[in-house]
Amino acid sequence: MMTIKYISTRGAAPELSFEDVVLAGLASDGGLYLPDSIPEFSMMEINAMRAMSYPELAFTIISRFTEGSIAPEALEKIIADSYKTFRHAAVAPLTQLDTHTFMLELFHGPTLAFKDFALQFLGRLLDHILDKKKQKAVVIGATSGDTGSAAIAGCRNRANMDIFILHPKGRVSEVQRRQMTAVLDKNVHNIAIEGTFDDCQDIVKALFQDASLFRATNNEQRTTLVAVNSINWARIVAQIVYYFYAALALGAPSRSVSFSVPTGNFGDIYAGHLARRMGLPIEQLIIATNRNDILTRCLATGVYGMETVVPSLSPSMDIQISSNFERLLFDLYEQDGKEIAKMMTSFRAEKKLTLSSLAWNRFKSEFTASAVSDEDTKKTIAETYKSTGQLIDPHTAVGLAAGQRCRANTAMPLIVLSTAHAAKFPDAVKDATDVHPPLPAHLKDLLKAEERCDTLANDAAAVKTYINNKI
Ligand SMILES: *Cc1c(COP(=O)(O)O)cnc(C)c1O
Repeated sequence: MMTIKYISTRGAAPELSFEDVVLAGLASDGGLYLPDSIPEFSMMEINAMRAMSYPELAFTIISRFTEGSIAPEALEKIIADSYKTFRHAAVAPLTQLDTHTFMLELFHGPTLAFKDFALQFLGRLLDHILDKKKQKAVVIGATSGDTGSAAIAGCRNRANMDIFILHPKGRVSEVQRRQMTAVLDKNVHNIAIEGTFDDCQDIVKALFQDASLFRATNNEQRTTLVAVNSINWARIVAQIVYYFYAALALGAPSRSVSFSVPTGNFGDIYAGHLARRMGLPIEQLIIATNRNDILTRCLATGVYGMETVVPSLSPSMDIQISSNFERLLFDLYEQDGKEIAKMMTSFRAEKKLTLSSLAWNRFKSEFTASAVSDEDTKKTIAETYKSTGQLIDPHTAVGLAAGQRCRANTAMPLIVLSTAHAAKFPDAVKDATDVHPPLPAHLKDLLKAEERCDTLANDAAAVKTYINNKI
């Protein structure tokens, strides 16, 4: 057994165990935690995975990262319970679009987006860790739509935590709002902020910097503040599994495959990068972005430069900065934490950084990237419906369009990650196909269900008072 140590990308935070990394979120030096070495599987071990169910495979992969920290029996149960909530027996089924193009359906979880893979797991894992440490946690997050509902679905009704999710009032779709506010469990608290998503994020940041937040409640049991945003390491680890699952189904390890991944914060595709480093033969990893294309520009020019966010048809990828990209930079710079710290400080001041030619060449040798306009997104939804009868959501369409553009070998299987169900983004789909994608049967009552949500001013102090009154 090998216990993995976790280190910060900026090299100046204490080493932590897996369970402490899950609770910590950001490292104390402002960096992100990752393992000091990536576990690898032999070809024989990967061959043996071909017979495994999704939960068996998840255990085989995730346990490599949790050894010495989470007991195997506990992990097995957490994984079994997490993926039991999915409404397809295969958990992550593949659909064939044409001879060599496949879609990996990651939308069969409770909230119809791929974030359920990570957050069903993280909610249960957190509860287990808190039990062990005899701690309680307050989970706080800001959402522009998908993350909040997936986090609530993962944390609802867990004994050791309260969850507070801030969303910008009136600025999330009705389905997205109801997927959060129709969850009536006592430990779930929805807050609509009179402001934008950025305002919500700023409030969450301020709360995390406010050490006095829980002084009053810390008499007996310690209360920990936990972030469930996309930099949480446990989320990344859970996402590695479906890369293996899909590739194995199509002949890995004796056959290589390529993946195209609709990308925002770089969490999902970073998990693909890890799968490759663990030994999975992945030919191309294609970064698919919408018009908010900081990653595509960086790959083309070597300059990682921030611009303003422009709303698109794929709102879950409308971001200015890809927070998990720092983890890749750490690899590209051969784990030089000092250099990363320097680069990120200057990025904060200048809003851009230039990769060394060595790092840029490495980036280009491991990834391909393409930015897809709204017009091409719609065209792809329409063409896919016409040729296959499948309704795909706009994020998936970005992945498919970029994959078709970037694939180097048309005879190699291309797997497009389908990150959301079409019914989550009905307007774009209806506009492109003239068909309104219906919600799955189990969500039919959603639009009539009772909602619970409080509206607060755009003011961190008001949110702090609210939280302290609730816990
Ligand atoms: C969050 C999200 C993405 C982007 O994933 P990242 O890990 O942030 O790159 C893509 N599609 C959908 C539907 C999402 O919700």
